[in-house]
Amino acid sequence: MIKWTEDQIELRNSIGEWATKLNDDFDGQNDRATLLKMWKLVREMGVLSLPIKKEYGGLEQDVLTTLYVLEAFGKHCEDSGFSFAVSSHIVSTCIPIQKFGNEEQKNKYLPDLCSGKKIGAHAISEPESGSDAWNMITNAIRNEEGYVLNGNKTFVSNGPVADTFIVYARTNKNAGVLGGYSAFILDKDTPGFTVGQPMKKMGLNTSVLCDLFFDDCQLSRAQLLGKEGQGFSIFNYVMKWEVLCSFVINIGEMEHLLAKCIEYSKSRKQYGEPICKFQAISHKIADMKIAVEVSRSMLYKAALAFHQGNNITTDLAIAKVVTSENYVKTSLDALQIFGGHGYMQESGIEKYVRNSVASKIYSGTSEIQRNTIASMLGL
Ligand SMILES: Cc1cc2nc3c(=O)[nH]c(=O)nc-3n(C[C@H](O)[C@H](O)[C@H](O)COP(=O)(O)OP(=O)(O)OC[C@H]3O[C@@H](n4cnc5c(N)ncnc54)[C@H](O)[C@@H]3O)c2cc1C
Repeated sequence: MIKWTEDQIELRNSIGEWATKLNDDFDGQNDRATLLKMWKLVREMGVLSLPIKKEYGGLEQDVLTTLYVLEAFGKHCEDSGFSFAVSSHIVSTCIPIQKFGNEEQKNKYLPDLCSGKKIGAHAISEPESGSDAWNMITNAIRNEEGYVLNGNKTFVSNGPVADTFIVYARTNKNAGVLGGYSAFILDKDTPGFTVGQPMKKMGLNTSVLCDLFFDDCQLSRAQLLGKEGQGFSIFNYVMKWEVLCSFVINIGEMEHLLAKCIEYSKSRKQYGEPICKFQAISHKIADMKIAVEVSRSMLYKAALAFHQGNNITTDLAIAKVVTSENYVKTSLDALQIFGGHGYMQESGIEKYVRNSVASKIYSGTSEIQRNTIASMLGL
C-alpha cells in the first residue's frame, strides 16, 4: 500500500479538478477538431509534463506520482479518447527523448513537448507486422549524411496532429531484434515523410490515428535516438511507461463508471424499488468495485517494482490483461445497469463500451500478454 504525501494528494486533486473543465467540450462525437480545442486547455494544466525534469519545463514527478495523478485525470475527464491522446503524447516522445536523447535533442524537443506546443506520436506497427512488430519492413539505410528511411507505419495515435514522431526502423538486416533496429526522431515537415488521413474507428474518437509513409526520407545522424541498434531497448522501456500510464487512466475511468452506476441504481426505480435493491444489480456493482481494486493493486504493484528498478515483465503483462479485461467487463455491466438509457448516446455510457474494447488490443494484445506470462513461466 503506497502512502501518498500531502503534495502528491494536492497535485492529484488539482489536476483532477482541472480535468472536469475538459468535459465542457465533450459531445460524445469528437474528432480531430475537438482534440485540438481540448489540447489548448490541457496545456494549461501541466499534466503533459508530469514525469519530465524541471530543466526542460517539466514537473519532475516520479512514475508513481505520475500514475496517481493520471488516475485522477482518467476519473474526471469524461472523454477517454482525449485521455488516450494525452497519455500517448507523454509516453511516445517525452519519455524516450528524456531517457535516451542526448543533451541537444532534449533541449530541442522536450520544452515544446512538455508545454504541449508540440504534440508527440510514435510509430512501430505496420500493415504486415502488428503483434510481430520486429518483423517490420521499414528500414533506415546509412549513407554519408545519416540515414535514408523507407517504408510505412499504421495505427499511429496522434499521428494526424503530431509535430514530433519517434519512428522505429530496421538498420541492420543481419542483426536480430537486439541490435538490428533503431529509433529516430522526425519532425512532421521532413521531406519524403507523408502523414495519412485520420482512420475511422469504433471508439476513442478524440484520439485520432493514421498511417505514415516514408519515401527516401533523408535523416541526419542527429535524428538517431540513443545508439544505432538500440531500438528494441528503447521501445521496451517505452512500453512499460505506456502500459502503466494508459491503463491507470482506465482505472480512473472505471472509478467514474462505478460512481455513476451507484448513483443511477439508487435513483432508478422499477417494481416500486430502486434497482440497487435487486441483487442482480448490486452484485454487478460489487464486481465493478472488485475490478477497480484488483486492477489498481496489480498496476501499482508493477509500477512500484519498476520504480525500484526490478524486472516487471510478468507483473506488467498481468496488470495489462487484468485492467483491460476488467475495463471491458465494467463498461458492459454499466451499460446493462443503465438499461435502454445506457444504449443511448446521451447517457454517456455506451461510449465506454466502444472505447474499452481497444484496450485489449493496443500496447500488446491480451493474447500476446498471455504469451509473455507463459514464456516467463518457462512454457
Ligand atoms: C486504438 C489503437 C491505438 C494504437 N496506437 C498505436 C500507436 O500509437 N503506434 C503504433 O505503432 N501502433 C499502435 N496501435 C497498433 C497496435 O499496437 C496493434 O494493433 C497491436 O499490436 C496488434 O497488432 P495487429 O492489430 O496488427 O493485430 P495482429 O498482430 O494481426 O493480431 C491479430 C490477432 O491475432 C492474435 N495473435 C497474433 N499473434 C499471436 C500469437 N503469437 N499468439 C496468439 N495470438 C496472436 C492477436 O492477439 C490478435 O487477436 C494502436 C492500435 C489501436 C487499436
